[in-house]
Amino acid sequence: MTDRFTILDAPDEFLSAPLRLTIDLGAIADNWRDMARRSGRARASAVLKADAYGLGIEDVGQTLYRAGARDFFVAVPAEGATLRPYAPEARIFVLSGIWPGQEETFFNNDLVPVIASEEQLAFWMAVLTERGPYPCAVHVDTGFNRLGLPLAAALELTDDVSQPTSFDPVLVMSHLACGDTPTSPMNKAQLEKFLMVSAAFEGVEASLSASAGIFLGSDYHFDLTRPGIALYGGEAVNGAKNPMREVVKAEARILQIRDAKAGESVSYGAAHVFSRDSRLAVASVGYADGYLRNLSGAGIPLRQTGILGASGVIAGRPVPVLGRVTMDLTIFDVTDLPDHAVRAGDYVELFGPAMQVDDVARAAGTIGYEMLTGLGLRYERLYLSSVD
Ligand SMILES: *Cc1c(COP(=O)(O)O)cnc(C)c1O
Repeated sequence: MTDRFTILDAPDEFLSAPLRLTIDLGAIADNWRDMARRSGRARASAVLKADAYGLGIEDVGQTLYRAGARDFFVAVPAEGATLRPYAPEARIFVLSGIWPGQEETFFNNDLVPVIASEEQLAFWMAVLTERGPYPCAVHVDTGFNRLGLPLAAALELTDDVSQPTSFDPVLVMSHLACGDTPTSPMNKAQLEKFLMVSAAFEGVEASLSASAGIFLGSDYHFDLTRPGIALYGGEAVNGAKNPMREVVKAEARILQIRDAKAGESVSYGAAHVFSRDSRLAVASVGYADGYLRNLSGAGIPLRQTGILGASGVIAGRPVPVLGRVTMDLTIFDVTDLPDHAVRAGDYVELFGPAMQVDDVARAAGTIGYEMLTGLGLRYERLYLSSVD
């Protein structure tokens, strides 16, 4: 396999960094175009919440804006304000809606609140009465029980003639609870409710599907889709082959190689005892970098998914985590690598082309989303902007 992440002219601080993150912006743009194509007649937006899933909202936002995205979703107003200069003509929706005190952030940055509760709706009507017309979106709950107006309240709203004429939703949306599980009856049940909602909000664009929902077929696409994880190369649908291009490679520098004898132990709690003479690579990554403690090789009572931890990759071979992951350091088993295959100063791939982020996440009993959004502040980042 050719490694698309081979770096030819990186700056020295990247080449020698304790932790490196290589982010392929061309692949993100490709993945967005792929999602747009799979969305059929619907337009594809891009979900950039949590710093674009940990990969950098400025670079990712600019890349997708250049690729043609004109609708973006963020979680909180500050993310929208950060994104605005990189997506000047785009619509930026704020999923958590609007609260008193946030009005200026919305108006100054031209952000669209996604009204998510009856309290927010009442506040928004009062804002409009004072300010006059301003766009909003309306989130309706169809079974997730997280955000959104109750179904009945949403349907009533469309009949309510007392609302200010300046109330002008540009989008009505809902969110699937089980989109990642195509066989779940929940999908159909939510779809049926949302069809009622979109019919009631006649003439208003409708949006139901995140990445996973796009794969459920055209019934789920409506006018606008909301892909997030798929843009970043993560797995959207359970148990299906991931068709997206890889986007990220995370690597940690190996600080030293050491030899340990059978019967000795390693790391906190002496939780892993060697059954054979072993060779260890001590790498500069720990749970403070989002390399979760649950990825530990042994002795973690929290993880009930199995006794094995994660593996990294060195010289094309998987190398298991040994003992507990610590705050800044993790120990990998390199006993089975050929002599001289690894030296201090080399890098271990934590996830990337040779080790899917979702497979690493599974070892910790979690999902790729959590690995990406938890990367922390210590990675030196290199953005690849070439298309190939
Ligand atoms: C996070 C989120 C998305 C994007 O979901 P992915 O699974 O990452 O594609 C879309 N819509 C809403 C409401 C979200 O919270």
